[in-house]
Amino acid sequence: MANIKEMIDLITGDLCKKDAVLIEKACAFAEKAHAGQKRMNGEPYFNHVFETAKILTQLGMDAKTIAAGLLHDILEDTEIKEEEIKREFGDDILFLIKGVTKLGTLKYRGHERHVESLRKFFIAMANDLRVVIIKFADRLHNLRTLEFLREDKRERISIESIEVYAPLANRLGMGKLKGELEDAAFPYAYPAEYAQVEEIIKEKKDTFQKNLTEVRTELEKELKKNKIKFVEIDYRIKHRYSLYKKLLKYDIDIDKIYDIVALRVVVNTVEECYRVLGLIHSIWNPLPGRIKDYIAVPKPNGYRSIHTTIFTGLGRVAEIQIKTKEMHAEAAYGIAAHFAYKEQKDKKVKNDKNKFKWVEELKELKYSPDDPKKFIDHLKMDFFNDRIFVFTPKGDVIDLPEESCPLDFAYSIHSDIGNHTFGAKVNGKMVQLFTKLKNGDIVEIVTKKDSKPSSKWLEFVKTSIAKKHIRSYLEKNSLLARLKSFGRS
Ligand code: MN
Repeated sequence: MANIKEMIDLITGDLCKKDAVLIEKACAFAEKAHAGQKRMNGEPYFNHVFETAKILTQLGMDAKTIAAGLLHDILEDTEIKEEEIKREFGDDILFLIKGVTKLGTLKYRGHERHVESLRKFFIAMANDLRVVIIKFADRLHNLRTLEFLREDKRERISIESIEVYAPLANRLGMGKLKGELEDAAFPYAYPAEYAQVEEIIKEKKDTFQKNLTEVRTELEKELKKNKIKFVEIDYRIKHRYSLYKKLLKYDIDIDKIYDIVALRVVVNTVEECYRVLGLIHSIWNPLPGRIKDYIAVPKPNGYRSIHTTIFTGLGRVAEIQIKTKEMHAEAAYGIAAHFAYKEQKDKKVKNDKNKFKWVEELKELKYSPDDPKKFIDHLKMDFFNDRIFVFTPKGDVIDLPEESCPLDFAYSIHSDIGNHTFGAKVNGKMVQLFTKLKNGDIVEIVTKKDSKPSSKWLEFVKTSIAKKHIRSYLEKNSLLARLKSFGRS
């Protein structure tokens, strides 16, 4: 066995004594339980659970979750019984392992199974989100070792990862994990398309990077001159799969994609984000319509940052993303930040409440008090019903109940967008507001300042969130109207 002590140190490096002892115990337990078992590539089985635990460590998960990651295949693949785990590691860890085992018995077979997978995920989430995060880590490592599996299995697992796991990771604000899942699955799910994207990246990367290096030098100089402190400036290369989705949208016109490589400026405060934006626009002209303020209006999954695309001369353009350290970390960890051991005692946890409202909602539902029927109905409607995935023009996935219409889409992005919806485009064509959306539709909402909700909308929307906002708007306004007429009489 490779030097197990060194391996363990990789995980326990940042942990306190008590947590480190737990992890070491779980490591030893898992290694013994899986002794003699091999993976398809000939490696000891323990390597798989260890790598899973390592991914969980990188996500900043707490020690119990990491321990459960080490033990996640024990119930399914070894002789060890539940009682023994309970005795050695306690109820919490046993609960997590059982949750992962339950999720694991699920096989994805085309669309009907899709719904079933999602349902199981949501049930698991309502119980304990850590179960889902362990499953993500397990899946990510399986994807990274997929080449040793049979071709049909490879295809099933990779497509399931793209269609079920990645959208959920995204929905949980775990952008980095979403990108990693998709990129690990992409070559097996769509080999020809993957090769095409690789080719494009190879061809374009250097030009982009050279261009950005010039921008970076100039920007750093100006930041210093203006005494704006930055934490770091670096490049990020677009994830392969998300580039592919974008190419699909623009009919493979690579020249319309400006963010294959983007410059990322990380600063300390929100105020500095806006100062940097101002500075950038005073040096380079921005492309109209491409300034995205996701700080003022975060994406539904909680993503925050300011994006702008600038002309850098000679017909070239560059995308710059500006964010604070916190936003940077959140984009990577998302919901996992809830459980990060490093932050548990900080006040930061409090602020997270608003960001994953729908998850909070889901959790609150579980404890919903006196009206069990209403609770079940709500759950059925929003979480357990058949889901469809539709896309924003930027390629973000929004999942909605089947038969949702563009208004549901608008409200799931923001109540303000919903309340001012004027029209909608689906796949580039104007449609009626009540058109039923289909899986894979790209939906764009046209808003107008003086557009407002009408009671007719209530007949067509499917989601509770849309109904709630429309009702509250109508109530507020009828109250206002009454007050006004009262004032006149
Ligand atoms: Mn596993």
